[in-house]
Amino acid sequence: MAGVNPVLAGLACRCPRCGEGPLFRGFLTVAPECEACGLDLSKADSGDGPAVFIILIVGCIVGFSALITDMAFRPPIWLHLIIWLPLTLILCLALLRPFKGVMIALQFHNRASEAGGKDV
Ligand SMILES: [Zn+2]
Repeated sequence: MAGVNPVLAGLACRCPRCGEGPLFRGFLTVAPECEACGLDLSKADSGDGPAVFIILIVGCIVGFSALITDMAFRPPIWLHLIIWLPLTLILCLALLRPFKGVMIALQFHNRASEAGGKDV
């Protein structure tokens, strides 16, 4: 619980303990351990957590934006599709990494791995 803010470290996709080493090896693959402090990240698993939040947040943003745009400008349906489908994809992909980072960081800071009773 040093000076590392779990939310900021997660948003930056950095190690939850030192805030220095990269959290991911690929786009969403969690590195086996932190390059900077050696923290074991192999047990870090956010499961479906980030996807749930992103579905709710992106769904809310895109859904209401499309509704308001439709009420205000009455654009044709093809224009809706051209605007909102790519925006949905871009928002989801852009949010996945930071959300997964935040969830793993919060799991580390709240010692979620202890819940199973077999980890340290
Ligand atoms: Zn580290």
